[in-house]
Amino acid sequence: MRGRFAPTPSGDLHIGNALTAMLAWLQVRKNGGTFVLRIEDLDRPRCRPTFYRRICEDLRWLGLDWDEGPDVGGGYGPYEQGKRGQLYEAAFARLEKAGRLYPCFCSRKELRTLASAPHGLSSLGPAYPGLCRGLSAKEREARAKGKRPSHRFAVPDEPVAFDDAVMGRQTYSPGSGGDFVVKRADGIMSYQLAVVVDDAEMDITHVLRGADLLDSTVRQILLYRALRLPVPKFAHVPLIYGPDGQRLSKRHGEWITVSRLRENGVSAQRLMGILAFLAGLLEQPESLALEELLSHFTVETIREDDIHLDEPFVSKWF
Ligand code: GLU
Repeated sequence: MRGRFAPTPSGDLHIGNALTAMLAWLQVRKNGGTFVLRIEDLDRPRCRPTFYRRICEDLRWLGLDWDEGPDVGGGYGPYEQGKRGQLYEAAFARLEKAGRLYPCFCSRKELRTLASAPHGLSSLGPAYPGLCRGLSAKEREARAKGKRPSHRFAVPDEPVAFDDAVMGRQTYSPGSGGDFVVKRADGIMSYQLAVVVDDAEMDITHVLRGADLLDSTVRQILLYRALRLPVPKFAHVPLIYGPDGQRLSKRHGEWITVSRLRENGVSAQRLMGILAFLAGLLEQPESLALEELLSHFTVETIREDDIHLDEPFVSKWF
């Protein structure tokens, strides 16, 4: 088993990220596998080296360790997406050669003004209505003179199904989700392509991550198929929502960040115990060493539904 935690260094680690990291770590450690830390700094302007350092510091404080990663090395590096551009370009070229991509000249503004088409992949926005899919070679050439295109993956009309270790059987008709961008007009590779290339190149067998990426998995499976790469096993774990019903974000205050809880004197064992309770691994929150948590962990025990924190819980435990 090879598993990973793949944070984007665009902010401090919050308790939702910590929960995902903990569960990914437990899954790998329980099975004697190899745990990889990969830094997803593809979207350069949003990422900062300070956040990368602070995320590592927080993870170590929590007691999580990794066998491979930017700071510890390993046989599958580099472990920062910013240094893996050539691998993404190679995969992009393979897809292009196989005729799976097409240039798209639509601007964001144009897409926004189109009536939003019905779509199947709800978290990924309205479906792309395929405007540029049918352009002739001549039209493409003419339009490329005025604008650098993005490149979209032509989603085949085939159903995608997979068994998620936490969320159960998932079935989609991704055609309704629209052809998605694999390379932006500014040359930046999309998360979807980068993550597939990385997980495949790093021989990741088990992907455990937040349920916000469940919809993306469909797109990623299509890319695995198109690139003839083995598809890993997936487990999508619940997200944490604040007392206002919104996904955790800065708006909720600093108590949601691991560093602030640490400064406030919350111990790592207590935080891990609270998170393990929220994930469904414990009957009640209690301080437990990670090693002890291992005996409570099975991927099947993780709850499927979202975690909603209410005010009394937050003031009691955080
Ligand atoms: N980098 C993504 C995030 O921080 C996670 C990607 C993944 O686990 O596939 O949300």
